[in-house]
Amino acid sequence: MTVAQVPPATRSIRYVKGVGPNRLTQLQPLGIETVEDACYYAPRRYEDRTHLAAIKDLRPGEIVTVRARVLARSLRRIRRGQTLVEAAVGDATGVLYALWFNQPYLAEQLKVDEELILYGQVEPRPRLSMIHPELERVGRDDDPAGSTGSLHMGRIVPIYPLAGGLTQRWFRQMIASTLERHRADLDDPLPEALRAARGFPALTDAVRQLHFPDSWDALERARERLAFEELFLFQLALAQRRARFERQAKPQRYRRDGPLLQGLLAHLPFTLTAGQQRVLEELLEDLCRSAPMHRLLQGDVGCGKTVVMAALIAVAVQSGCQAAVMAPTELLAEQHARVMGGWLSPLGVSVGLLTQGVPAADRARRERAIAEGALPVVVGTHALLQTRVVFHNLTLVLIDEQHKFGVVQRAHLAKKAAMPDVLVVTATPIPRTLALSIYGDLELSTISELPAGRRPVTTRWLGEADRQALYELIRRELAQGRQGYVVYPLVEERQGQVPGALAGARHLKAVTQMAKHLQAEVFQGFRVGLLHGQMRPKAKEQTMLAFARGELQLLVSTVIVEVGLDVPNATIMVIEHPERFGLAQLHQLRGRIGRGEHPAICIVVSDSAEEAVRQRLAAFVETADGFALAEQDLEQRGPGELLGRRQHGWMRWRIANLIRDRGLLESAREEAIALIRRDPALRGSALAGLRARLTR
Ligand code: ADP
Ligand code: MG
Repeated sequence: MTVAQVPPATRSIRYVKGVGPNRLTQLQPLGIETVEDACYYAPRRYEDRTHLAAIKDLRPGEIVTVRARVLARSLRRIRRGQTLVEAAVGDATGVLYALWFNQPYLAEQLKVDEELILYGQVEPRPRLSMIHPELERVGRDDDPAGSTGSLHMGRIVPIYPLAGGLTQRWFRQMIASTLERHRADLDDPLPEALRAARGFPALTDAVRQLHFPDSWDALERARERLAFEELFLFQLALAQRRARFERQAKPQRYRRDGPLLQGLLAHLPFTLTAGQQRVLEELLEDLCRSAPMHRLLQGDVGCGKTVVMAALIAVAVQSGCQAAVMAPTELLAEQHARVMGGWLSPLGVSVGLLTQGVPAADRARRERAIAEGALPVVVGTHALLQTRVVFHNLTLVLIDEQHKFGVVQRAHLAKKAAMPDVLVVTATPIPRTLALSIYGDLELSTISELPAGRRPVTTRWLGEADRQALYELIRRELAQGRQGYVVYPLVEERQGQVPGALAGARHLKAVTQMAKHLQAEVFQGFRVGLLHGQMRPKAKEQTMLAFARGELQLLVSTVIVEVGLDVPNATIMVIEHPERFGLAQLHQLRGRIGRGEHPAICIVVSDSAEEAVRQRLAAFVETADGFALAEQDLEQRGPGELLGRRQHGWMRWRIANLIRDRGLLESAREEAIALIRRDPALRGSALAGLRARLTR
């Protein structure tokens, strides 16, 4: 393509004044390759430099920007190879000291009499000072020619997330020239009618205000518009995907009523809750439509999602199709195979387990049976994804505890079938905001109640001082025939040692010793087992089975028990070092108990004095509702923590912030759906900008 054919906004950033080959390679890691990228590159914060603080007015603890001249500077070696650069800077009103540790080159760079802008927190001792302030050097050679200074002073000034030798001043100037020359080249992806109806500023204004706002108000309006735009484009892509799914006609046909579904329901030791029935109805309707199912089933821990999956499997098998269930851990896969096998095999349906832990010969035999269609139901871990595994007639794909997998893995299993019906299941209650943004291409089903007769789990927060009482309580429960878990966090080495927690390579030894200690000195006469992720699969399975059968009474474990495990007789969950867990994860752990008829108690043991931890634990003790907790987790720790790192790829928004902008997300979704409904192929003449943007 020649330059003339490239849409102006996607023109390379190297056409901007001042950007040479060097700068080009510095900009690349920031994701800036085109004019458009630069326009949308949001500052990480802003400084109001209309009024700078006078040094004499600084108060300790304040975070301020000052403008001052270097009076003197020094470089000192302090203990063990550490260096300290200290600069005395002054304005007309006083003197302030700036300190930088281990940045000796600053001593070279800072010239006496040079003017600086410093941003940081004012420290009271020993003299008025700032430690590691952010630094801008006024009028240095990285100010491009023609820089007037008015970009950097006397206004609200953008501060960008930069790296690798780029300075704020150069970058600001580059953005300013980009805006000046190319702003008008951006085409506005928001349909004009939509923009007008919502009172959003035009794109060119919004972008200008994003970088060089005239006021905080104008900035907020610009940011809102740009966040909306981003969310809208994303939701539109998802809505288009959904619409594409809708137009597909799958080859498989299901028999909704048949002996297997009836047999399964008739033989269950319980009747389905209203929520389970309603959701099963939704799912069956989906199966019987001509478009493939793409649905997310969510429901709080213990609400009974497994039986709903089994019911779908029964329908698939009675229709002559194959079904596959993928679980995130071997433990959970084994449990599913056992539980579902327990329901289905009396009806003549065999359920095969396929995990790393299955001996090679058995695995080969099962894989053959799968390929020939002799094995209608397969439960496994990501071992299912191996290319060796070929299905005969796979039409139903169930993915349990979806949040533990990456998006890619979900797509991967679905590829083993022509046009499969896919259900992803999660017990991490995902706040609606997140569900909409990550799973926006899925329909949503929710089971919102627990089976009747469940008593809510009591949650207690104890300290070390209560340990003996805690052990006594556990002994009482075990003596009455109940079972329990004691869970330790696994601390990765690089995160450093938390007092008493199990660190890095030593954690296995420590949890092993803990199990020994508890068996020998605290729970003599009871049977204590040990479970952790590094055990051989066979040993894991045996331990789990022994616990499920009640042969082990107390299971000392790492967080491996976090997802899915179901032992209704277990009534005690002790969580050591709960400060290491987020709310959603604590709730998952708590979900391992309270699954049967007996009252259950979850105990967190922590003496942490940290305010955030105390708040989290207090919330955990007070709230039994997983969805409410997940909302709080989202607010406290952000989406990454809640979902696990694998999902991060989905979360990299340029402007939008899922916590602050959840209202915008909802309306962006509504608008996107409405637009796709009116104009599925987006052919409308007012949508040229939108089409251009979506194809990128
Ligand atoms: P989750 O939704 O967390 O995956 P499970 O499917 O493991 O929960 O179910 C939790 C427990 O509740 C299991 O022991 C299951 O047999 C039981 N259960 C499921 N549905 C019902 C019901 N309708 N009535 C009583 N118990 C049920
Ligand atoms: Mg489950």
